[in-house]
Amino acid sequence: MSKPATLYNRLALIGVGLIGSSIARAARAQGAARSIVATARSPQTRRRVAELGIADQVVENNAAAVEGSDLVILCIPVGACGAVAKEIAPHLAKGATVSDVGSVKGSIVRDMGPHLPKGVHFVPAHPVAGTEYSGPDAGFAELFVNRWCILAPPPGADQNAVDKLAAFWRLLGANVETMDADHHDLVLAITSHLPHLIAYTIVGTADELQTVTRSEVLKFSAGGFRDFTRIAASDPTMWRDVFLANKDAVLEMLGRFNEDVSLLTKAIRNGDGKTLYEHFARTRAIRKGIVDIGQDSPAPDFGRSHAGLPHAPLPKPYASGDD
Ligand code: NAP
Repeated sequence: MSKPATLYNRLALIGVGLIGSSIARAARAQGAARSIVATARSPQTRRRVAELGIADQVVENNAAAVEGSDLVILCIPVGACGAVAKEIAPHLAKGATVSDVGSVKGSIVRDMGPHLPKGVHFVPAHPVAGTEYSGPDAGFAELFVNRWCILAPPPGADQNAVDKLAAFWRLLGANVETMDADHHDLVLAITSHLPHLIAYTIVGTADELQTVTRSEVLKFSAGGFRDFTRIAASDPTMWRDVFLANKDAVLEMLGRFNEDVSLLTKAIRNGDGKTLYEHFARTRAIRKGIVDIGQDSPAPDFGRSHAGLPHAPLPKPYASGDD
């Protein structure tokens, strides 16, 4: 089968952790860009990216990466994107598309948008795919296959630039949807941010128990706790930034969650089995819906044989601790 035409001439990746290195690997595998230039904040990461050979060129700074590039993707924590947009602005090529992969979109639009010059197309994006691993070694080319990538172009964005970036993500295997940035943040607050907050909380709570020992928690973790520990192992910098940047939507969802916890608490206290049963039956149907649309496997304990082996070829659809 012949490969589709190369979409971009020079792809610049700023930040080469899990997501940046997965984009590099996938873009190369699919021939999505004629050349890939990468840079990272630390010399260690730049050195490692060069050793891995996943980019055609590894450069020392952000300005050198974006010069002459027609697609620039920031793959760094959300809180760092505004300052980097300001730094690269004078070096961007006319007609280039600037994008990102941040897990929050409203703050990205507000922090990056004002710095970008006229004649440059700004198309924020969020590939809803990931694992709990970080760094350039953690990435793999198949990360985005059968996952969603949400584009959040600001009002008035150039449609050709949006369509071209959508084609890029499709080439990497993703399904693409376009959404208003604030709506994205509400959706992700409930599907991703709140679940991570709950996981961080419950793992912390278990760690502080006096009457149940840590070794008992680890030994009997298959009772449900283990799945929370995987999510709670996600990168602390990334998640700090997500909660700071998506404060309002997370607080809104957290308020609703607390109300529902109170209802279930009352049902348990009152021995109200009917309320508990009805609630659990409704949530079981949601799980079935996720399996039915191919976003997870019906196999028990899906993906666990790959724990600790982020490079192992994964069955499709992929196991993910996405964000
Ligand atoms: P990662 O593996 O920790 O990599 C982060 C990269 O950003 C590294 O190259 C790091 O450079 C660089 N970096 C960190 N702080 C920086 C700063 N202040 N200024 C400039 N560069 C900085 O993280 P990741 O998982 O790829 O996440 C990157 C972005 O993807 C985040 O915005 C996150 O919200 C989004 N995202 C993550 C997931 C997920 O599941 N992990 C999924 C979808 C979207 P050094 O290595 O040199 O320190």
